[in-house]
Amino acid sequence: MRYISTRGLAPALPFCDILLGGLAPDGGLYLPETYPRVTRAEMEEWRTLPYGELAFRILSKFIDDIPAEDLHAICLKTYTPEVYCNVREGENAQEIVPLRWLEPNQNGRGGLALLELSNGPTLAFKDMAMQLLGNLFEYVLAKRGETLNILGATSGDTGSAAEYAMRGKKGVRVFMLSPEGKMSAFQRAQMYSLQDANIFNIAIRGGMFDEAQDIVKAVSNDAEFKAKYKIGAVNSINWARVAAQVVYYFKGYFAATERNDQRVAFAVPSGNFGNICAGHIARQMGLPIGKLILATNENDVLDEFFRTGVYRPRRLDETVVTSSPSMDISKASNFERFVFDLVGRDPAMVRELWAEVDKGGSFDLKGTEPWYALADYRMVSGSSRHPDRLATIRDAWKRYNVLIDTHTADGLKVARDHRAVEIPTVVLETAQAAKFADTIREALNRDPDIPAKLAGLELLPQRVQSMDPDAAAVKAYIAANAGA
Ligand SMILES: *Cc1c(COP(=O)(O)O)cnc(C)c1O
Repeated sequence: MRYISTRGLAPALPFCDILLGGLAPDGGLYLPETYPRVTRAEMEEWRTLPYGELAFRILSKFIDDIPAEDLHAICLKTYTPEVYCNVREGENAQEIVPLRWLEPNQNGRGGLALLELSNGPTLAFKDMAMQLLGNLFEYVLAKRGETLNILGATSGDTGSAAEYAMRGKKGVRVFMLSPEGKMSAFQRAQMYSLQDANIFNIAIRGGMFDEAQDIVKAVSNDAEFKAKYKIGAVNSINWARVAAQVVYYFKGYFAATERNDQRVAFAVPSGNFGNICAGHIARQMGLPIGKLILATNENDVLDEFFRTGVYRPRRLDETVVTSSPSMDISKASNFERFVFDLVGRDPAMVRELWAEVDKGGSFDLKGTEPWYALADYRMVSGSSRHPDRLATIRDAWKRYNVLIDTHTADGLKVARDHRAVEIPTVVLETAQAAKFADTIREALNRDPDIPAKLAGLELLPQRVQSMDPDAAAVKAYIAANAGA
């Protein structure tokens, strides 16, 4: 299995060679040369497998340059109840990625369910892929005798998921910048209470997220520094993250059906198009997905595309801060992967479209062949706004006695608008309500419960370096603390 760039001007490479990098050298994103197909016999066998075994079966189709027994060990070590079962108590408490029916399948009418992806250490679905990435990085770096210093900026979710994935991993250090005083007390406690020697939290004084992000860019643009200190990133375009996410579409499908000739619709709260891209790939592999329902918040770049054919990334000053902040994006970095398939895997066409996008422009596919081809992918979309979020959180609480977070609420709202009556609809639950207490209070007049396993987090001692917004100071700090 080799990986090619969506822009067609980079050499095809095996999995381990693209694992540690970001964009392909031609500016494109890596995808498998062809999508592996799943056989009927495999579908039968996979239906009853525990999560780690299922992950191994699926990832083996994408990774053939790690010996099978090693990949098997990595999957089993990654997907354990200790890591992924922090939220549920009682029934199914030890199941990894359980399905919770809101309305069961009944009399030929498809039900409505939540697939719980956010029971991991940071209570967001990013843990599903990031934990695997941590173990893959450690494995490949050890094999190659290399080290890596991961540099990033975070306003909350991604940074903490990366830190919990990389903590204690040999050969990896994490330098994570965050805006001082801008995250919630819970988010701060999550990140800053990590005492692992390879995790470095840097709070940027007086900064907003953008300032922290600018410092990361400034450091990464210094090619000499970047090479000398082996600076890397774990952004959402990383292929291994997408591949790891394919697994739970299979798990959710098996949980929602009884036989492999049934179809399921998935509704996905979307930002950078990473999560739903994995759904698209699961379908290309042969998983019977009836439709993929894409939900955005007020930042509706993707909804606009699926409704009108126009892809117009927003300027930063057009991007709004919402109560589902992990979906506040101006452009959808993984979207290029889907468009590559949509235009018949023609890299010249992708280059042409993104020549506009990379200049800050847009493209319009309406009336073109790819626009008509879109119907074959059965992707529909909608957007959800703050009042929808409040109403959906209240409704789920009243009707089902289930507390959902703001991102999942966007997914559920749009799922309801597009639900097909004859097949089950599975909404991907992407975070826990405990992370977004302000909005829960606004909706329900009560505080979300903190899962028992994470109670007391805010009382733990914190370890963070406070620094002026100065790239030179950050570089000096990295130089002093980078691995040998
Ligand atoms: C990252 C994130 C999303 C968006 O996922 P994409 O892969 O960027 O589309 C949605 N909800 C939560 C809670 C997230 O952390």
